[in-house]
Amino acid sequence: MSPIIHLVGSWLVASAVTDNPRDRKLVTWAGVLPDLDGLGIVVDVVGSAISGHENKFHYYQQYHHLLSHGWPGAVLVSLLLMCFARKKPQVLFWCLVTFHLHLLCDLIGSRGPEVGDLWPICYSEPLFRHPIWFWKHQWRLDGWQNEVIYIVLLITSLWLAVKRGYSFVEVVSKQADQVFVQVLRKWSGQLHR
Ligand SMILES: [Zn+2]
Repeated sequence: MSPIIHLVGSWLVASAVTDNPRDRKLVTWAGVLPDLDGLGIVVDVVGSAISGHENKFHYYQQYHHLLSHGWPGAVLVSLLLMCFARKKPQVLFWCLVTFHLHLLCDLIGSRGPEVGDLWPICYSEPLFRHPIWFWKHQWRLDGWQNEVIYIVLLITSLWLAVKRGYSFVEVVSKQADQVFVQVLRKWSGQLHR
């Protein structure tokens, strides 16, 4: 699934299981960071722009879903994030949960355009080749299922933001989040008038 669905979904989980902004952010990040291994796409695009050669998405194909979409990545990322947490054992546990939720979402909804373009989860990469997991009913990355999930998660998170006074934007910037929630509350006030 797309990083934005992972972000909103992980933030909702984090909002339910943590009681302070710092831990909430860390648990949310754990659900987004697996896609770090997709950043090779930036190298591919920049490299092809500079060299003038056709972009074959070499680094993206080579590393995405292989470097940080398995248990070694989960352990490393969760331990790292735990170092910054207020409630370390809880944050470690919930980081592992949102990380694995990311893997599960990718397993069910990250297929390419063709029916055979299944995207597997190689759960022990980059340390070991196996196990490799497929789900033969995996739906497309740009499929309607992902759109429905995104809309439901987004509406739920905006509703929660109006109610609680903070939103998933806090993961990036506290100031931007305050402005965002102010606007949301204004709109919500006008709707209920
Ligand atoms: Zn992913």
